[in-house]
Formats: sequence, structure tokens, C-alpha cells
Amino acid sequence: MTIEVSREVSESGDRRFPVVDPATGEPFDEARDRRSRELDAVVVRAHHAWRTWRADSAARSAALLAAADAVAAAAGDLAPLLTREQGKPLAESHAEVARTAARLRYFAALDPGVHPIVDGRPVRSEVRWRSLGPVAAIVPWNFPLQLASAKFAPALAAGNTVVLKPSPFTPLATQLLGSVVSSVLPEHVLTVVTGREPLGACLASHAGIRHVTFTGSVPTGRAVARGAGASLARVTLELGGNDAAVLLDDVDVDGIADRLFQAAFRNCGQVCMAIKRVYAPARLYARVVEALAERARAVVVGPGLDPGSRMGPVNNLPQLARVERYTARALADGARAAAGGRRLDRPGYFFAPTILADVPPDSPVVTEEQFGPVLPVLAYDNLDEAVAAANGTGFGLGGSVWGTDLDRAEAVAERLECGTAWINHHAELSLAQPFAGVKDSGVGVAGGPWGLYGNLRPFVVHRPGASAEPATEQPRDREPDGRRPDADPPSRERP
Ligand code: NAD
Repeated sequence: MTIEVSREVSESGDRRFPVVDPATGEPFDEARDRRSRELDAVVVRAHHAWRTWRADSAARSAALLAAADAVAAAAGDLAPLLTREQGKPLAESHAEVARTAARLRYFAALDPGVHPIVDGRPVRSEVRWRSLGPVAAIVPWNFPLQLASAKFAPALAAGNTVVLKPSPFTPLATQLLGSVVSSVLPEHVLTVVTGREPLGACLASHAGIRHVTFTGSVPTGRAVARGAGASLARVTLELGGNDAAVLLDDVDVDGIADRLFQAAFRNCGQVCMAIKRVYAPARLYARVVEALAERARAVVVGPGLDPGSRMGPVNNLPQLARVERYTARALADGARAAAGGRRLDRPGYFFAPTILADVPPDSPVVTEEQFGPVLPVLAYDNLDEAVAAANGTGFGLGGSVWGTDLDRAEAVAERLECGTAWINHHAELSLAQPFAGVKDSGVGVAGGPWGLYGNLRPFVVHRPGASAEPATEQPRDREPDGRRPDADPPSRERP
């Protein structure tokens, strides 16, 4: 009897799964398909590594700076691989790698400091900050490297170790990133595990994990929170969005059209805080639709590795089917495709940049997250109604208001129920700012010092004596060698 060996099992006995190039729709490589039971050993090793890693904050900072340099130096390998499996134009992959290195540098330079409690009592009481333990980081496929670093850079800077699970649609660039970063860190401080479900679910609910930091869709976020509940691990959830852009009646349509379009279609619209709905005053509606449609028709859509391409394919087949479904439903509901409206007739997962006009406000392309290169534009007569419609979904990630009178635009922006509101911009983020969604868009805060504290626990030391001086600026930046400006050479943090 002959036994057929599964093509999914490599010669070394590891299970593998295919990785597809979305520009062709064909597999081009494979990744290791870890079994959930392998996580026990991974988490135990991460736990052991934590005992040393947490102890010396200056050494950590220096190692993270070295990791940033290593990532920047590996851009020539990381960026094309990212484009191959994710689909985005090569220039955008290079920007993603640069942002990953910048984030490591940013968090390497942050120190949580010590916060004295000053409340008039004759005691010396202060908050010191302690790491949590092994952190599980689970990320999606739209910005695999950038989002991975948004998890592991603050977690590692805080003294935790990290087990990182990329999406099975984009495992390879993350695997390479993990090798690059790990080459300058102690063993098992960062471990990348690739695999198909239930690997993520098992990681999120693993008893040895102390913080689950997840980016992805709302339904998966709920499942992650339920899983982490079993071990009462901390959860940070960065979830979906359905950001609205509200245009005011004094807006300069031609002046903003490029920015508006970019904010909706960057990364093929696969951005959690992309503009996913535009509300335009009825008087300007036709001009807004035409300005956006003109730009949609002009975009060169093609493989990300082709230097002429400005927009790549949708990342994966289920996502493409989703975009097609939402668009077809909107057209059936009476919408008009002012540009695009269909999948492109060629190999790969290409969808024409689409502007939808006259969309019924209750069409799912307006009320839900379609996460693709499709933008519904809706007319309004009354600004209060437009603001109510902008706030009228379960999401609350970002939003924007566009107009010439900036004070008036800001007053309208104040009324948006979301984590970040932009004026005449959208989806512009600084590494130093907090990033947090409201409603179904998230739990917890990432970014800036808030992202660092999200990976720490307060530890209060209280003793009799004179009360301490009030804290000055917190947290403090470090010297380039990783030490705090006023610190003696490396102090050892108590584990
Ligand atoms: P997804 O929820 O399907 O998957 C995200 C990750 O979770 C992947 O690694 C996946 O393998 C893993 N996963 C799947 N099932 C799991 C389970 N039961 N338990 C644990 N992990 C599991 O999301 P996606 O399709 O990869 O990404 C698109 C979504 O991500 C969109 O909703 C988008 O808005 C959101 N997103 C949010 C942000 C943000 O910062 N708020 C950023 C980027 C993307």
C-alpha cells in the first residue's frame, strides 16, 4: 500500500500552507502552519525570556534602536516580499518598512518614568511601572508590518516579550521582519508564529499570555475578548471602521479632491480609517461626485511590483467577494457607478476604483465596513442630518470635516463620535498620538505614551516620610544610548 504524502507537509514534517500573490491569484510560496499545541512551548520560552528582558530598561532601549537599524537595512528584502503577498505598490511597501523602523525608534526613546502621588499626606508614595509578561499580538493583512510593529514596539519597550501572529494571507514579510528584529534581540523575546485558525484563537486564550493586543474585524475582536476572558488577560482591540467625511458648503471642491480621494483609496481602500462615506451638500453634490470619479478613472491599477501601478489588487479572494457583493447590492438598490463598479477582467484580484452616487443611505455599503476601493457619496440638505448620519453606524474610528472656515469645521468635527477627527485631512497619524476607536471600533488605546502604558501595570510603593515633589513631564525621552537624561548608567529595574 502506498501512502500519499500531503502536499501541505514539508520534507521536515512541518505542515505548510500556500501564500497567494493577489496580483496573479496564484500561490507563490508557502508558510509554516503551526499547530495550536506548539504554542505551549513558544509561550513558556517567551515567559523565560521575559525574566531577563524586563530587568534592564537601558539595554532594551539600545536593542530596539539596533532593531530599527536592522529593519531599515533590510528594506530591500522586506518591501518586495510585502508587495508580493499583500499587493500594495512597492513605494507604499517601502513607506511601511520605514514606518516600522521609525516606530521602533520612537518607543526605544520612551521611558514611563515614576509618578509621585502628591495628596498632602506625610507619606512618600509613588507609581512605578512594571511589565506584564508574554504579550500576544494578532494582526490583519492590510498593513502587516506596520501593525505588527504597532504591537511589538511598545510591548517590548515596556519590558514584555511578544508572540506575534500575522494573518495567514500575509505571513511571509512578517516572518522575515521577525527574523530581522530577533537577530539583534535576545532569543525568544519576539517570536512570530504563522498558521491558520484556530492558531489565533488558541493564542488569544492561552493561559500564559498576559495581554492580547489585537487588530482586525469586529466579530473576530469579540471572539478574542471572549477567549482572553478565560485567563483574564488584558485586551487591546483595534477594530473596524466606517469613517465619514462631511463636506461643508464652503468647501473648495477642486482644492481638496486629491486629498479626499487618497484618503479613501490608499492601499486599495483597505485601511481601517480610510474614508468610507462622503457626505456632500446637495448644492455641490454633482461636482464632488465628478471630481472623485475623474480621479478614480485616472488611477493606474496593476501589480504592485510594476513601477507604473498606483493601486494594487484587493488582498484576498474573500475580501474581493465582499467588495463585489456590497457594490452589486448598492447598484441593485438604485446607486449609480460614476466610476468603476466591477472587478477588472484580468488575472488577480483587481477591482476598479469605484465611486457610487445616489446610494440609498441604508445600503450596506454605507452602513457597514466594505473595506475596499469603493466610495459611496451621499447628498445632504441639512448639516445636522449629515452629522447624525456620520454618527449613525456602530463604528467610531475616525471622521473628518472639510471646509474653508476652519473654526466652523472644527465645531462640526467636535460633534463626531470617533477617536480621531481631522479637518481638511483624513487618516494622518503621528507616532506620538493616541489611537483609539469608540463604539465597536475598539477597546483600549494604542500609540504614543498611551501605547506604552497600555503594556505596563502600575506598581505603587508607599512608605512613611515626606511627600515627593510633583512629577514633571512624563514620560521622558531617553538619550540616544537608551538612558534617561538624568539617569546613572544602567540601573536595573526590579522584576
Ligand atoms: P480578521 O478579524 O479576519 O483577522 C485579523 C487577525 O485575526 C488575523 O491574523 C486572523 O488570522 C486572526 N483571527 C481570525 N480568527 C481569529 C480568532 N477566532 N481568534 C483570534 N484571532 C483570529 O480581520 P482581517 O480581515 O484580517 O482585517 C481586516 C479588518 O481589520 C477590518 O475590519 C479592518 O477595519 C480591521 N483593521 C483595524 C485597524 C485598527 O487599527 N482599528 C487597522 C487595520 C485593520
